[in-house]
Formats: sequence, structure tokens, C-alpha cells
Amino acid sequence: MSQDWDAGRLDSDLEGVAFDTLAVRAGQHRTPEGEHGDAMFLTSSYVFRTAADAAARFSGEVAGNVYSRYTNPTVRAFEERIAALEGAEQAVATATGMAAILSVVMSLCSAGDHVLVSRSVFGSTISLFEKYFKRFGVEVDYVPLAELAGWDAAIKPNTKLLFVESPSNPLAELVDIAALADIAHAKGALLVVDNCFCTPALQQPVRLGADIVVHSATKFIDGQGRCMGGVVAGRSEQMKEVVGFLRTAGPTLSPFNAWIFLKGLETLNLRMRAHCASALTLAQWLEQQDGVEKVHYAGLESHPQHALAQRQQRGFGAVLSFEVKGGKEGAWRFIDATRLISITANLGDSKTTITHPATTSHGRLAPKEREAAGIRDSLIRIAVGLEDVADLQADLARGLAVL
Ligand SMILES: *Cc1c(COP(=O)(O)O)cnc(C)c1O
Repeated sequence: MSQDWDAGRLDSDLEGVAFDTLAVRAGQHRTPEGEHGDAMFLTSSYVFRTAADAAARFSGEVAGNVYSRYTNPTVRAFEERIAALEGAEQAVATATGMAAILSVVMSLCSAGDHVLVSRSVFGSTISLFEKYFKRFGVEVDYVPLAELAGWDAAIKPNTKLLFVESPSNPLAELVDIAALADIAHAKGALLVVDNCFCTPALQQPVRLGADIVVHSATKFIDGQGRCMGGVVAGRSEQMKEVVGFLRTAGPTLSPFNAWIFLKGLETLNLRMRAHCASALTLAQWLEQQDGVEKVHYAGLESHPQHALAQRQQRGFGAVLSFEVKGGKEGAWRFIDATRLISITANLGDSKTTITHPATTSHGRLAPKEREAAGIRDSLIRIAVGLEDVADLQADLARGLAVL
């Protein structure tokens, strides 16, 4: 017996294997050098043996790379791996998470189409819809995330997409993705889920019935706060349009970043399990503290959608928020008293981060809008990293001591 392999795709035998195996091996390609790690193709173009070869590649008659804005082998390996992990037919990588969202709407919507967006989405996502897509004649309305009847009632004959983040940031609200997909499909609309907070390790929206998944790979897929990137995954029918837009408009992923993300995916499940375990420990501990008025984390039994989170997700995620005594002053004093945790709005990093949403990520909202969104002045958000949980608890105790 021998392990015969040719240069090229190595993952043809992965039918039926588990998530952890796909995370390490899906999308793997090998050059004749026999490298075990993924090769990094830092090249902008590809050469042809003859003018006729070039013509055949350009026309698409012969498959292959032409130019790295169109395809790149390292980027393709990342795309194939993430498609396998999401259970999607196809995925395409983008320069950032925002470029992923831009590409979905630009490729699937036209002037006169209507899009429904959950109220609590990422700040730049709201700006993209409000300031730019509206300018090109795309109608946009916002719906409270969790209320299925509200979504159903807001769908119009020209509604093309429903766009949600579940769980939401920073209050960890959820929507029943399978039920929302049914509502969208009954009226001929597509459901798009931003799966950045859960990653496919914790939640697979396509398997729940969603049509398209977008990611900021900048967060947990990199997992160490170093590279920007994004992904769109879904059915080939829609992905064909998204790929076409990306190739033409150009917000594609660099091969270096794709190579980093391939490394990130190999440890994704292990990391997410550690993030979730520490987040749950800290959420349960914070809930017991006198200075803390409320903790928002779907892993807590006190969370109104705890049962849905258990059904829909394989873990509760790394992001939790809590309200402290003393309003904004209390929250700022708490944050400033920490020594280990980084004061930054980023998340999905091995380093734990702490932020005051009301004056950072949600600072541009009018006080009334903030109130409606449930972002109190006393609210603090942490994105739990991979440090020892006892050290994180001791750091948060410094904050509690100055309330
Ligand atoms: C960070 C983030 C984005 C945007 O991703 P970038 O990589 O920063 O462009 C989109 N959605 C969510 C939920 C995010 O957290």
C-alpha cells in the first residue's frame, strides 16, 4: 500500500467527515514540491505557454488562473474550506467583512428593490445601507431582530433580502433562523445571515435554511487580531452573481491574508470552545456581583432566548455585555480600572477586549435611538479572549472595586 497523491486537490476523500477534519483538510491543494503546509501564491498574474493557451484561459474554455483579482490558488483553498465548514455550495473571499456585505447587495439588488435589516446590526452595515445603498434606489427598512411577526408584516412585494446578525451586538439577542428563512422564502425573499459572532463552529445558518452567510474573517476566523478579510457563502446560483461583482469591482482577498485564515480555521473549533467556556464562567460570575445590574449572554438561564440558543447554536459565543451601577461614570471607572484587558472595540482576538458601546460603537446614535436599541450608558461589552479565565476575572474585579 502507499499513499499515492498527485499535485492538485487533496480533499476528494472527505465525504462524510466531521467538522474538525474539514477545518484542517478541506480545500487542501498540493504542488509537485510535496509541501505539507499550504503554499502561498503571492502572484498577481499567471503565464501561458502559447497565445492559444492564453486565449483558451481568458475565454473560460480551459479552467485555470488568469489574474489574482479573479482567482488565486491560496484564496481558493480558503474559500473551499470555509464553504465546507458552512455546508454551503460555494464561498468567495473578500478584502473585509464590509466588502462581503457590499458584494451581496450590489450583486443581488437593483434600484427599486427593498431590503429588510435587523435593527441591531454592525454600525458600518447601517451606514452602508443608509448612506450608500439608499442613494442607488434600494429601499431599506429596519425590523426588531427577534420578532418573527414583525418580519413577516414588513415584507413587501419588492423585498429581495432579509439581513440579520444573530446573536446581536452587544445585547446578544437572537432570531430563530429556520423560522425566519421560512418567512422569507414564503414571500420569495432571500435570508442573509452575518455569522461573524458564532463562526461555523457554533452556528451554520445555511444548514438552518438561510440562503447566504457573510463573515468578517477579521474576527474569529483570523482569531488573533492581525488580518482583515471577509467571506460570502451560499448556493452557486447566487454566488455566481457575487463572484461576478467581486471580479469586476475588485474588493478581493489578498493571498497572504487567505493563508493566515487557513491557519486560523485549523484551530477555529478549539479556540471557539475555549472562548465560550471562559465567557460562560465570567457571565455567571458577573451575574452574582453586587455592582452588576444585568448580564446579557445567551448562555445564562436568565437570558430570555436561552432555549433557542441551545437549539440553534453549538455554543454561546465569546461576546457578553453587562450593566453596572453608576451610569456612564461607573462604566468608565470600571473600564479604566482594568489592567490586563485591552480597551478597544475589536473582538474575535486571542486578547480580551473591553468597550463602552454608548460612547464608541453606538456613539453616533441619537440618545433616543440608543435608548430604543437598549444601549444604556451603564453598559460594558467584553469579547472574551484566550487568557487564563482566573486572570480575566481578577481584572474585572478591579473594575467592580471602583464602582
Ligand atoms: C467587524 C464586523 C463586520 C465588518 O467586518 P470588517 O472586517 O471590519 O469589514 C461586519 N459584521 C460584524 C458583525 C462585525 O463584527
